[in-house]
Amino acid sequence: MARRLTPSDLQTLLDRAAAAPRVLAADDLADLLAIPAGDDEALRTLHAAARAVKLRCCGRGIAMRGLVEAGNACAKDCYYCGIRRSNAALARYALDAEEIVRLAHVAADLGYASLVIQSGETESPAHTAFIEDVLRRIAPLDLGVTLSLGEQTEETYRRWRAAGATRYLLRIETSSPALYAKLHPPTHSWERRVECLRALRRCGYQVGTGVMCALPGQTPLDLARDIRFFADIDADMLGMGPYIPHPDTPLAAEAAAAGWSAPAALTLGLNLVAVARLHLHDVNIAAATALQALAPDGRERGILAGANVLMPNITDVRYRRGYQLYANKPCLDENASLCRGCLEARLATIGESPSYGTRSDSPHFHARTAPHPPA
Ligand code: SAH
Repeated sequence: MARRLTPSDLQTLLDRAAAAPRVLAADDLADLLAIPAGDDEALRTLHAAARAVKLRCCGRGIAMRGLVEAGNACAKDCYYCGIRRSNAALARYALDAEEIVRLAHVAADLGYASLVIQSGETESPAHTAFIEDVLRRIAPLDLGVTLSLGEQTEETYRRWRAAGATRYLLRIETSSPALYAKLHPPTHSWERRVECLRALRRCGYQVGTGVMCALPGQTPLDLARDIRFFADIDADMLGMGPYIPHPDTPLAAEAAAAGWSAPAALTLGLNLVAVARLHLHDVNIAAATALQALAPDGRERGILAGANVLMPNITDVRYRRGYQLYANKPCLDENASLCRGCLEARLATIGESPSYGTRSDSPHFHARTAPHPPA
């Protein structure tokens, strides 16, 4: 059980965490994660400490990535996900290469110097070649390109890296193999996901991972271990957000019984951002769209809790309904420039602004790959 921290215990932990990365024990991380909705003073203190570390390690400004949801066909059957293979209620779509290339130009024109291409999981020689072709065609735009296309062979990761992708996001979903096994069919392998993260690193990507929080059966200690997992695999980037039930999925009924309220899930999501920032210092952390699904200002609050990356959706509105991983996904009706305008205005309310025209690579990646000074 997580302890309820006194104000002075809290301050001591935050001072230690801010002074150096990776110093807190799992129990300490769990105590911070468990600060509940309603304990406003402690939450403000936690989130402000994380934001100060963000400012020191990542600078002012918010890194922008244009998000392309390239298709919703998926070979996986994750019990929580709205685009799982067995969801027969969903019409499947796939953008063609011209459309993805067009969206890369949209991102560049909007000043987003980075692009994220995400989709359901497909493994095939044709798919590998398709993505490779897209990457080669957008290479002249000189964008930072993140892929989030699931588990693939090392050979495929290598080909996509050679064709111009620089970053890869593959959430481990949970670092607990036991919890992973409850959220996925037996054919899905936690070990393979870890092996994929290692392969991505060998291929020279900036490697991103992450988890969902507020899952049925998950404890603060599970999440504390997730954060230590991020440190162990030496992640460069993190994408984390609250699990939000989708009605056409097997986990929805269990989730209703587990009874996470929206404010509790949102608070946990913000605490996860804050505690990950305090433990890891210089990684890029995205303010997930799932935060916004729980509160209209959820992503801004993610930034105030230490996130430094936003991924505005630039996929055409007509496809967005096809990519509902969870219920109440926001911005289903806005086109890319409206999204940009609304984000700028939202950021201004918290004294932040988008960093246009810069790729904003992970400072941690630069630190770990910089040549060592001569001895
Ligand atoms: N298939 C790709 C990426 C697409 S899904 C991959 O595996 O990497 C992107 C992320 O959405 C998943 O990693 C998962 O963490 C998140 N997600 C899926 N269903 C969700 C839900 N119901 N609530 C919140 N997040 C969800």
